[in-house]
Amino acid sequence: MFISRFAPSPTGLLHLGHAYSALLTQNLVTRNSGTLHLRIEDIDITRCTPDFEKQIYRDLEWLGVQWDSTPLRQSEELSIYINSLKQLVDKGLVYGCDCTRSDIKKALSAPNNLANDVNTLVYPGTCREKNLPLDGRNVRLNLLKTKNYLETDYIKFSEQGIGPNKETGDQTFDIAWLEKRYGDFIIARKDIRTSYHLAVTVDDAQQKVTHVSRGNDLFYVTPIHVILQNLLNFKTPVYIHHPLIKDKNGNKLAKSKGAESILSMRNSGTTIKEIRSILGL
Ligand code: GLU
Repeated sequence: MFISRFAPSPTGLLHLGHAYSALLTQNLVTRNSGTLHLRIEDIDITRCTPDFEKQIYRDLEWLGVQWDSTPLRQSEELSIYINSLKQLVDKGLVYGCDCTRSDIKKALSAPNNLANDVNTLVYPGTCREKNLPLDGRNVRLNLLKTKNYLETDYIKFSEQGIGPNKETGDQTFDIAWLEKRYGDFIIARKDIRTSYHLAVTVDDAQQKVTHVSRGNDLFYVTPIHVILQNLLNFKTPVYIHHPLIKDKNGNKLAKSKGAESILSMRNSGTTIKEIRSILGL
């Protein structure tokens, strides 16, 4: 069985990077006689717009990407995420956090802090023992308790694509690595009561995704998703990360950095054939 998904966020217009991911995923699905789902990742209500969402459908149709069922819209699934969050609350694995970005920066630059790196903002655990109520606060996963609960030090998944440092095959991450890289990460934001990590984990399970095909900028957050799958008793899919399409200067294409949109390429006469050939597909 091969079930995959394309999961754009309607925070801007799709560019060549999205086209690559969508077409590559569709090729994989076709080759494996599988199913392709479309998921609109629109939990970030301040940045997503209905116009961008409509344009996603138009661009994908124009590119010849076909999905197999009604698209899942994350904004319609919020109660399901809250349910999953509740399971983690009931297991006693989360805590409320009051810290702002600048509180975290301050704590990280304190002279007695060993992880003295302000840029990475690894959460130093300031609120871990405070027992703050969860309402109206960011909710973080307590990694130490999680490790004890899962009775393992390791997170494992299978990579059938390639990570940013050529990772491929069976992957094992130490939970201590997660602590060092992220600290106790946020699984529910105070405004939307979920996070990208929780929503993506729940939805990959809901949509019965067997193979996650996506850009390898998400490779190093995969252990976060796998830890949540383990806690929520979801099966871990196979991951197929692909390299990112870069601009002339070797930077990742980004809406925020003005990457040319598929819509504008189309309006200025670029054909689908040309797009496929630029992407090497
Ligand atoms: N919504 C994410 C994006 O647009 C993709 C998330 C995923 O594929 O897991 O980059």
